[in-house]
Amino acid sequence: MNIRIGNGYDIHQLGPDRPLILGGVTLDHTLGLMGHSDADVLTHAIMDALLGALALGDIGHFFPPTDPKWKGADSLVLLEQVHREINQRGWQVVNIDSVIVAEKPKLKPHLPAMRAKLGKVMGISQDVISVKATTNEKLGPTGRQEGICSYAVALLTQT
Ligand code: MG
Repeated sequence: MNIRIGNGYDIHQLGPDRPLILGGVTLDHTLGLMGHSDADVLTHAIMDALLGALALGDIGHFFPPTDPKWKGADSLVLLEQVHREINQRGWQVVNIDSVIVAEKPKLKPHLPAMRAKLGKVMGISQDVISVKATTNEKLGPTGRQEGICSYAVALLTQT
């Protein structure tokens, strides 16, 4: 069986007057993630895992932050493009596992909605998309609520 694995990581700063979007789901919170796009760290980490599995670089290469075209970009639209790229090269997702590290807000009730959104844009079952959440026990930048980060791994197989 021809399989490839990739990992992805992303972190964004929290700030005022920004929406908090994770896995395409907008959450009710006093702070949001800052960035050139919608700063959806979970979706960014997943895209980097998919690209990494095929050694295609990272999302900064595909969607340069210097390009005004990607300002305020909906990361789910970018994920759809990355996933299409993978498919066109003859690969498909076996499964994705991910974790969001955030002190606040409570993410657990929203994880099923994130899995559903991610699965829908990639046209794959949410059963093969795992999204977990943890705090950082008040340690480090995520623990101090200066930012939110996410890790993801993706396994691909040749179609
Ligand atoms: Mg990012």
